[in-house]
Amino acid sequence: MRDTPAKAIALISGGLDSMLAARVVQEQGVHVEGINFFTGFCVEGHTHAIRKQDRAKPQRNNALWVAEQLGMRLHIVDIVDEYKQVLFNPRYGFGANLNPCLDCKIFMIRKAHQWMLAHGFDFIVTGEVVGQRPKSQRKETMPVVAKESGADDLLLRPLSAKNLPETRAEREGWVARSALYGFNGRSRKPQMQLAREFGFSDYAQPAGGCCFLTDAAYSAKLSDLWEHRGSRNYDLDDIMLLKVGRHLRPSPRFKLIIAREEGEVRFLEGYRKQFIHLQTVSHAGPLALIDGDVDDDELQLCARLVARFSQGRQADRVELRIVGLDGNASLTSVSPMPADAIPESWYR
Ligand code: SF4
Repeated sequence: MRDTPAKAIALISGGLDSMLAARVVQEQGVHVEGINFFTGFCVEGHTHAIRKQDRAKPQRNNALWVAEQLGMRLHIVDIVDEYKQVLFNPRYGFGANLNPCLDCKIFMIRKAHQWMLAHGFDFIVTGEVVGQRPKSQRKETMPVVAKESGADDLLLRPLSAKNLPETRAEREGWVARSALYGFNGRSRKPQMQLAREFGFSDYAQPAGGCCFLTDAAYSAKLSDLWEHRGSRNYDLDDIMLLKVGRHLRPSPRFKLIIAREEGEVRFLEGYRKQFIHLQTVSHAGPLALIDGDVDDDELQLCARLVARFSQGRQADRVELRIVGLDGNASLTSVSPMPADAIPESWYR
């Protein structure tokens, strides 16, 4: 019998399930710390902090907030570069969109296992629930994740443990199997009940997934980026910009990113030095970035498009400032493009 508490590392996404799983294990007297992997595609704290329509949601990083609620340390690990190997070539394919959920889980649990070994922890905790997600959380895939991640029986899913083979944490008596749960399926009711029992009234509402890759519109923009770049590579700025603005591609050589509201204008301002950008001056209007190469005619086309999304959309002429990559600014006056003249196929 050991005289110090067992130590677990819990994957914390910021959602309810991982919060509950960590708390269940804490209740058993285990020392739990959280780990959160930053892929660049995470939803957490991004659009909520930018867009007005999301203002009703608390502007916070939910993973940090969960750690605070549970009184535990959180390790945020940047895996932006390493994650590309998961996204470029997922062995188990994609979900409904560009979300490689099964490969992603295997990868994150493998990283958590490495972290656990390097830091002297005993086991790993996740909030996975059997049958919760069609591909990555089926009963048949649970052992696949455990085996291929290398974590094997060091991986404990406290919310579904009673539906799964005993793990080392149970065998060693670090946690009592009788105090674990047997949740199964897509219903959220058992989790909500458990949240009430723990006194959690405020938690991130369950969404379609923990990252933008589950989103059809986002995945379409990412596919478009890869197609026109001629390679499936990306950097952090690329994938952050896909989360923001209206994206229009009038040509294979360039696209326009047009802010939809004040918060997005401020966000895109941070990228002005990297892109040719335009902003209306005669009327209130959005900031827009041009991603790609444009000739003079195409620049005028971009100006007409930006004018279309400004307060001057009904005016005969709208004046805009265009700033090149060299920082030199020029003014131009254009007639706004009528909405019905913009082909649907330009919208990404
Ligand atoms: S939703 Fe995103 S972060 Fe979550 S498992 Fe799927 S790919 Fe990974």
